Amino acid sequence: MHTERLILFFIGGMFTVLGGGITLMFMVIFGPPIGLFPLIFLIIGIGILAIPTVAIYKEKQTRSHGKRYAAKVFGYVEDTTITVNGAYPINIKVRFFDDHHNISETTIATRFPKGNVPYPIGATVDIYGLNGIYAVDPESVTSAKIPGEDQLMDNRPLEPEKTDYIAITCPNCGATYQAIKGYTGKCPYCDTYTNAE
Ligand SMILES: [Zn+2]
Repeated sequence: MHTERLILFFIGGMFTVLGGGITLMFMVIFGPPIGLFPLIFLIIGIGILAIPTVAIYKEKQTRSHGKRYAAKVFGYVEDTTITVNGAYPINIKVRFFDDHHNISETTIATRFPKGNVPYPIGATVDIYGLNGIYAVDPESVTSAKIPGEDQLMDNRPLEPEKTDYIAITCPNCGATYQAIKGYTGKCPYCDTYTNAE
């Protein structure tokens, strides 16, 4: 689960349990209206719990009603909208063939902590699209090959203006080669995929 969701569940749970308990205690001791004052903490707690609950519900809806596509994990991007433990979590960039068999690229808000690699580059995952929103099935990560995956993993930006070449070192064999910044490079010697950043 996303770290920030766990944090929200924890804080929301604390407010809910303590707010509920203190309200109960105050009601017994003071009765209304003073006894009802701690209710505000209970309400705040439920509000905080609602944030991750709604997000999880929406993802479930996308997964159960969306269209499934086999996609390749193509790269990583930092999610700068949120900080978890002082660092930006990582979202994945995936590529897949859309309904017209065109190569499509989308970013999925996976928000996993840096250093943790639940979605290795080059892995095959099931994604679900509903109204332009995509969710990934975290249980679907495999190293299976899909038809046309060389095309999907091609080190070529879908937007041609993004062609900033940088030198990258292959983490597997140590070779240095050129890849387009922000895109996945494929080592010409050992075929290992690396995020060029
Ligand atoms: Zn290599």
